Amino acid sequence: EAKKRGRDRFSYFTSELQQRAQVRLRLLSELHAALRKDQFEVYYQPIVDMATLKIVKAEALLRWRHPALGMVSPAEFIPLAEETGLIVDIGEWVFDTVLQQAAIWRRLYDPEFQVSINKSPVQFLSARYDYKRWPEDLARMGISGAAMVVEITESLLLDANDIVREQLQAFHAAGIQVALDDFGTGYSSLTYLKKFDIDYIKIDQAFVRTLPVNASDMAVCEAIVAMAHKLGILVVAEGIETGEQLALLQKIGCDFGQGYHFAKPMPANGLTAIFEKAPGEPSNFADAAGVAW
Ligand code: C2E
Ligand code: MG
Ligand code: MG
Ligand code: MG
Repeated sequence: EAKKRGRDRFSYFTSELQQRAQVRLRLLSELHAALRKDQFEVYYQPIVDMATLKIVKAEALLRWRHPALGMVSPAEFIPLAEETGLIVDIGEWVFDTVLQQAAIWRRLYDPEFQVSINKSPVQFLSARYDYKRWPEDLARMGISGAAMVVEITESLLLDANDIVREQLQAFHAAGIQVALDDFGTGYSSLTYLKKFDIDYIKIDQAFVRTLPVNASDMAVCEAIVAMAHKLGILVVAEGIETGEQLALLQKIGCDFGQGYHFAKPMPANGLTAIFEKAPGEPSNFADAAGVAW
């Protein structure tokens, strides 16, 4: 009996593994055409100023609307896009899309509004990638680089070479700001913060999730904020899901917040609807967004 159960379990696992491998293969083969077939969409997740709870920024998060599989998570397809190098073309599409949208929001609702874009090391290091393009596009379209923040990961800085340094400098020269994403999960070396011109640190949601029960995560968040501020770096907390987490992060002086407590990632028109909600003051507040999403 036990043996039979074991065998069933084994076949269950193999079939699940096989299924996952099949899905992966399928995604891999269809990813190539997804851009051409217009299956990508950019969602935007509001980022609030912790002092006012006003929405002052948003993070652009890529979505793949697969005709048969529905919404595919970026956690699933971004790694495939990186392996195949497709991320370079996809990333340029994201940039074009976000740039136009950010320009509209800045013109209509908030001249200071910023949208941040995730950019993986593969995009930085690809030989096919011309890093002057972003600054040139901004200039051609007459959009300030301050409309943009580029989110990078520590792993990029870990094997940073002159190319990476040049690119980050070119971004800064164009007014584009730089955020260090998922901070605390990687090496979190202080040398990077000194060596590179970093504008924001994003505290990873792993440290936010367990607040306030986990005292050591509380201490980590507090230390990150204190250190960042000493270096002139602003701090964004990711993954805020409760009012209690919000209150604690406000108390330790965290500058910006992002998470389901305020709003989930949404299509561009969702954020536009928030801006439009109450014309004039106060329109785009996170508590208003909270009830809608
Ligand atoms: P990330 O840059 O760290 O983005 C934050 C992730 O946390 C997003 O997942 C977001 O939906 C999720 N999130 C935000 N608030 C909460 C919360 O309160 N609770 C929970 N549980 N999750 C929250 P998403 O959209 O699935 O993206 C996953 C990752 O995929 C991103 O992590 C980023 O590394 C990558 N990614 C997404 N879009 C792009 C893109 O356009 N280019 C590149 N290169 N990578 C991207
Ligand atoms: Mg990010
Ligand atoms: Mg992150
Ligand atoms: Mg991440």
